[in-house]
Amino acid sequence: MKYLTTCKIKKADGSVCGQEFTANELPDQTEQTKQGRAFVEGLMKHVEKKHPEAYLEIQTRWLSFLGFLVLGCFDLQDPKGAQFKQTLENVAYQSREVTKTA
Ligand SMILES: [Zn+2]
Repeated sequence: MKYLTTCKIKKADGSVCGQEFTANELPDQTEQTKQGRAFVEGLMKHVEKKHPEAYLEIQTRWLSFLGFLVLGCFDLQDPKGAQFKQTLENVAYQSREVTKTA
C-alpha cells in the first residue's frame, strides 16, 4: 500500500505548497526504523530546499527542545533557570505553527 504525503507549508504568496510525496506504508513502530528516519529525512530535505524560512524555524525550535531536555536533567538554583526552561519549552512546542507562518 502506498500513501501520499502532502506539504502544507504556505509559500510567500500565501498559497499552500502542495508538493506530494508517495511512499510505502510505514511500518509498525516507525520511529524505531530506518524507513521512518529516511521518511523524515526526505521530507526535511524538501523543507530545507523549498522552504528555508520554515527550515530555520524548525532548527530554532529543535535547539530549544534540546535545551529544555538538557535543563530537565538538572536542579537549577537560579530562579530564572525555571523560567528559562519554561521559555525553551514554549518555543519548542510552537512547532505546530510553523506551517502557518512560513
Ligand atoms: Zn513544500
